[in-house]
Amino acid sequence: MTAPTKSDIWRKDRDHLLHPYTDFSCFREEGSQVIEKAEGMYVTDQDGNRLLDGIAGLWCVNIGHGRKDMAEAIAAQVMDMQYYNPFGHSTNIPASELGAKLAALAPGDLNHVYYTCGGSTANDAAIRLVHYYFEMKGQHRKKKIISRDAGYHGATYVAASLTGIHGTKLGFDRIGEDFIHHVSAANMYAKPEGMSEDEFCDFLVDEFERRIHQLGPDNVAAFIAEPIMGAGGVLVAPKGYHKRMYDVCKAYDMLYIADEVVTAFGRLGEWFASEAVFGMTPDILVCAKGITSGYIPLGATMITSEIYDVIAHPQCEGGVFSMGLTYFGHPVACAAALKNMEIMESEGMLGNAKEVGPYLQETAKSLLNLPIVGDVRGSHLMMGIDLVADKKTKAPHGAGVSEAIFKKCLDRGVIVRPVGDRIVISPPIIINREECDMIVNAISESITEYL
Ligand code: PLP
Repeated sequence: MTAPTKSDIWRKDRDHLLHPYTDFSCFREEGSQVIEKAEGMYVTDQDGNRLLDGIAGLWCVNIGHGRKDMAEAIAAQVMDMQYYNPFGHSTNIPASELGAKLAALAPGDLNHVYYTCGGSTANDAAIRLVHYYFEMKGQHRKKKIISRDAGYHGATYVAASLTGIHGTKLGFDRIGEDFIHHVSAANMYAKPEGMSEDEFCDFLVDEFERRIHQLGPDNVAAFIAEPIMGAGGVLVAPKGYHKRMYDVCKAYDMLYIADEVVTAFGRLGEWFASEAVFGMTPDILVCAKGITSGYIPLGATMITSEIYDVIAHPQCEGGVFSMGLTYFGHPVACAAALKNMEIMESEGMLGNAKEVGPYLQETAKSLLNLPIVGDVRGSHLMMGIDLVADKKTKAPHGAGVSEAIFKKCLDRGVIVRPVGDRIVISPPIIINREECDMIVNAISESITEYL
């Protein structure tokens, strides 16, 4: 069979695919970038351009692309048993092995796992578990959720309603404005002039507590937050913020949901960031992406034994937890996750992220010398770069510039991600120092050329 030409693929793509977060009209002229091969830190497009992947596919290819051992583990599971339904008492070996492994690695007593198909469905599961939990406790009114402006929690209806990025709201009605509420983003770069980090933290915690009172503590069930906001611009909260928000949750009998879809599995040098980096153990921990390094879709929602004990009571009214995904605990996805974690362990990848991550953060600070770079921030292998029209007022430069920088970086063989008026970097956690330099140099040269 002859390989399809680029124009064949473009035409089929343009005529049939609805790409996410994409202006469909741009396909009329431009067509898509066709990525054909991927290996290690690099992907190769159909013209043979080898590109350094500075965004790990989409925050997910943590162990790097194209691993034969991953392909073999996936193939072996398909040959053994590719699928059987997971309902009731039926299970499979990889799903149960992975459950035990996640419980062993997760902080505290996050011992129970609900598997999904990705991060959005895992957040939906988290909210359903919260509601189910309070229902089982007889607190029928305790259902409202507090999320944050600029938070990103996914694309299914509930996850998108949790999301606080306003540009994502066009064309869908958020699920009951009365069910999900947003408080301010922990955006240190946008904090009021003259306010210290501690004062800003006080402000955010006070605002949260006031919102709980406004809504009525008996009505508010949970708070959801990413340890570091990803798609919202890699926003690192003030010191102590997460622990204090957790303490407020406890004071009002609320659950804290940590959305670790991006931060788990090595991006911050740890299996999970909540406890190891931010000193708090959430009641519910959501992960996806790096759990399989994107080799196959999988999400996981972990709950504590305390929540489990409540929802595991015999159900008096004949109800059960009815989130019945066909692909819960998919054996092939779980086998991929187990192999992925084995590779991370045996090749010391978390250690690499811990060692190289700070180097990336340090090196990228040089970008602050450029006239339109207002802020460079992040932690380990997550970084956001704000492009501003004026460093003093911090007025954003406008979305067009990040797209232009993205294209110029591509010309230099490096993929970065334009997000509004920011550039985001989230490379595979196998990255070395030389590759960090390549990314930073490509951004620096691209901005200089743009000016
Ligand atoms: N939560 C966070 C923090 C994310 O960054 C994402 C995706 O980028 C999601 C949830 C949604 O995950 P998915 O796209 O796998 O549904």
